[in-house]
Amino acid sequence: MPAPASFTNYIDTHADAFIKRLGDAVAIQSISSDARRRQDVIVMGNWLNGQLNELGIETKLVDLGTHEMQGQTLQLPPAIIGRLGSDPAKKTVLIYGHYDVQPALKSDGWKTDPFTLVVDEDSGRLIGRGSTDDKGPILGWLNVIEAHKNLGIAMPVNVRFCFEGMEENGSEGLDECIQEEVKKGKDGWFDGVDCVCISDNYWLNTRTPALTYGLRGIAYFSINITGPGQDLHSGLFGRTVHEPMTDLIKLMSKLVDNNGDILIPGIDDMVPPHDEEELKLYRKMDYTTDDIEEAAGGKVALSSDKTTVLMGRMRLPSLSLHGIQGAFSDVGCKTVIPAKIGGKFSIRLVPPQTPEKVIPLVNTYLKAEFAKLNSKNKMEIEYLHGGKPWVADVRHWNFEAAKKAIEAVYKKTPDYTREGGSIPVTLTFAESLGVNVLLLPMGRADDGAHSTNEKLDRSNFIEGTKVLGTYLYEVGAAA
Ligand SMILES: [Zn+2]
Repeated sequence: MPAPASFTNYIDTHADAFIKRLGDAVAIQSISSDARRRQDVIVMGNWLNGQLNELGIETKLVDLGTHEMQGQTLQLPPAIIGRLGSDPAKKTVLIYGHYDVQPALKSDGWKTDPFTLVVDEDSGRLIGRGSTDDKGPILGWLNVIEAHKNLGIAMPVNVRFCFEGMEENGSEGLDECIQEEVKKGKDGWFDGVDCVCISDNYWLNTRTPALTYGLRGIAYFSINITGPGQDLHSGLFGRTVHEPMTDLIKLMSKLVDNNGDILIPGIDDMVPPHDEEELKLYRKMDYTTDDIEEAAGGKVALSSDKTTVLMGRMRLPSLSLHGIQGAFSDVGCKTVIPAKIGGKFSIRLVPPQTPEKVIPLVNTYLKAEFAKLNSKNKMEIEYLHGGKPWVADVRHWNFEAAKKAIEAVYKKTPDYTREGGSIPVTLTFAESLGVNVLLLPMGRADDGAHSTNEKLDRSNFIEGTKVLGTYLYEVGAAA
């Protein structure tokens, strides 16, 4: 069911006011990872809460307690839980977003003040920190509700909200908050939620809207090798002792080959083969290897076949070597033999892999490989952190509704994408509510979410708002 014409007209005629409101939001420097800005994050939470209340949305601010950061005990910004409508005849959609942002300084290379939203009339870009990540999408939802309120039309669904202010800093306290709310059952505000929609990622390119149905997980390790009692001089000890760095380089070279294949037995094999239907999704995607090479800033794609490249990023695990702690890395020619060295690597996981399933495979393999070196040094494998992958069913009505909304607004069929990275709250919602979760991106691949000169295209903000509204109508009409 398409959204009423009065709704889309309202969005068009109020575009300037919506952009002004986005400017108000961008002006609040809600940087969650900077202790000096914590008060601004709380101000931003209160501002957003005020906006929600003005639109008739009932809210509660959940106190997530305090945490230690940069040597201080800091109040965590509140989670905002909201509800609008409780009609048992309508579906209930839970919407997630985050009101905190990444740090930004003019001196990082911004062409304009990061906290003043600049409307570039020539390019149509709305430039400012948080424009696309994630204040623009949050305000997109508010625009939809404002239109309905002022036009006096009933919302097609009941809506629940979950907004947080710590996403860019580990989402501290949020998982517990969501689980608590779900546990309350009938007395909780998430009771009766039929599906979840998260707008906090991006199209695969700058041309075609996307729907995202998967995220990779991660398992991060350090191989620690010790032996000598202190750093040694190669003139005195070269060819005299077992050197930790030599052992480590051997081990790190045995983890992944130059084509990206993971050499730890059992890890690549754990992934079920793709079927024909899935293959079609990759073939259809508006994407070329040029896109990836442009994004990478070099002609370095592993294959010239786009399906192979896409599957490598979206449906296969990957192993990357990140760095060596304790290695000599300065300029010059220091002739040191480091005594203690840690090789960092991580594996991006896909279903059915979990950190728990891959840790024993990593341990067994590295121990066997280390034994082959006949070294008198000691090796220890440290598991540093991890998270599970997620994949949703794209045939679910939640995805169908979003597809129809995109087709109605953009006159284009969306790309179905899986992200190579992770958004941990996705899994929390999927597991604690047991409902379908959809990632419905508003911005484009070149928005520069965590980078300098972050922007949201005006058309993505305005047409994107129409997509969000139309999506709710399609959900309301879904069987
Ligand atoms: Zn974000």
